[in-house]
Amino acid sequence: MNYRDLEIWFIVGSQDLYGNETLKQVAEHARIMAEELNKDDLLPCRIVLKDVAKSPAGITKLFGEANTAESCAGIITWMHTFSPSKMWITGLNSNRKPILHLHTQFNQDIPWAGIDMDFMNLNQSAHGDREHGHIYARLGLSPKVVAGFWQDAAVRRRIGVWMRAAAARHDGMRSVVLRLGDNMREVAVTEGDKVEAQIQFGWQVNTWGIGDLAQLYQEVSDVQAEARIKEYEGRYELAPELRQAGPGRKAMLEQAKIEIALKGMLEREGAGAFTTTFQDLHGLPQLPGLACQTLMEQGYGFAGEGDWKQAMLVRAAKVMAQGLSGGVSFMEDYTYHFEPGKEAALGAHMLEVCPSIAVSKPRIEVHPLGIGNKADPARLVFDAAAGPAVLATIIDLGDRFRMIVNEVEAVKIEQPMPKLPVARALWKPLPNLYEAAESWIIAGGTHHSVYSAALGIEHFRDWAEMMGIEFVHIGRDTRPARLRDELRWAGAYWSRP
Ligand code: MN
Repeated sequence: MNYRDLEIWFIVGSQDLYGNETLKQVAEHARIMAEELNKDDLLPCRIVLKDVAKSPAGITKLFGEANTAESCAGIITWMHTFSPSKMWITGLNSNRKPILHLHTQFNQDIPWAGIDMDFMNLNQSAHGDREHGHIYARLGLSPKVVAGFWQDAAVRRRIGVWMRAAAARHDGMRSVVLRLGDNMREVAVTEGDKVEAQIQFGWQVNTWGIGDLAQLYQEVSDVQAEARIKEYEGRYELAPELRQAGPGRKAMLEQAKIEIALKGMLEREGAGAFTTTFQDLHGLPQLPGLACQTLMEQGYGFAGEGDWKQAMLVRAAKVMAQGLSGGVSFMEDYTYHFEPGKEAALGAHMLEVCPSIAVSKPRIEVHPLGIGNKADPARLVFDAAAGPAVLATIIDLGDRFRMIVNEVEAVKIEQPMPKLPVARALWKPLPNLYEAAESWIIAGGTHHSVYSAALGIEHFRDWAEMMGIEFVHIGRDTRPARLRDELRWAGAYWSRP
């Protein structure tokens, strides 16, 4: 995906009342702002300036055009002057694109010596944007609101975060989750309403038989797989026994074939994400491990055991994180360390953790795997980098989707774990391990999640707002007893007619 292919329409509001001279200045200021914002890397999408909005008919037409513009991922509104907001009702009611209401003004300082009523009339976002904000509240809409001087990095960063969320929404509206097999038998949390998911997120969640993949796998030649291994050699370290012919090398070759076959399938179906399940591997020699890891690294969403909600969320996070450092991976809470003062959670999966979160060069190794009853799978082994990160998940509560996001601090793994040959991450959740775990469990969160050191709370919050789903933030100020009450109140909100 190329961010610059996505347009964010910049709609500056005013009205005819002020006369041509003022409106010309409004348009000129908007032009300068769009041009300057487009030069800043903090804003990944392309801002496209539209004509100054000054009449009900013009505003309605503009939103109609935005709705049908394929490349329009969102809209930024800003009222340079006063723009009576009854003019906006029909347009906003028809709108289907995410909106950011930018509350700013063209000048930073009040020109104390020269200020007169003409200046006041031209630069009155302080009251024009309040009139504009009122109509969102009145219509029950919740655009992102960003207040501050448009040249400040902090303001631009927040606009950029929202653009990334809008890009992920845009991608999801056109994306397919390719499910290979069904969900793991008897597991509740990986289930969900696939029709509702398409209505809410745009995701097309469909199933393909594992036999389709097994067939494609058979058709991949040794030559093709060896060429892929050459690329692995440039990118990863290989365990010594994998550098020469033998069972280890053969296992790696099989994973390369699975990767090539899977990628062909994903491209053919226009899929952005996929799931596998160890209970359905007929015709494949191993559980896809290395194959899933390298496909995630290329930007595909993935989750194990048929968890299509997390697969799609990994994809959304991959889109949001594009061009940022820190990585995004499928993750699973596995085991705790309860030593007083050093409490932490160890996250991993059977095999499938994305190397984009690795602290150093990952190593390909081949080891037995008890689950799945297949041959020893090749996988990438590494530790995740230390630093701030987030864990995010989506659950289906039957009447709605809920997103839960926990801020964590990933820590360096000090002790070697020579008998644990999988990629892993060690983190301390906020506010602390126990209260974070209690909160996550009270909220009904999965053992599966999306782990990202590239993204923060605001990315996921913006995305959830755009999708119209419940958002639960577990962080420094979260207390489980309070959260339990908040979730009950939220239940009343979400069950409204
Ligand atoms: Mn799992």
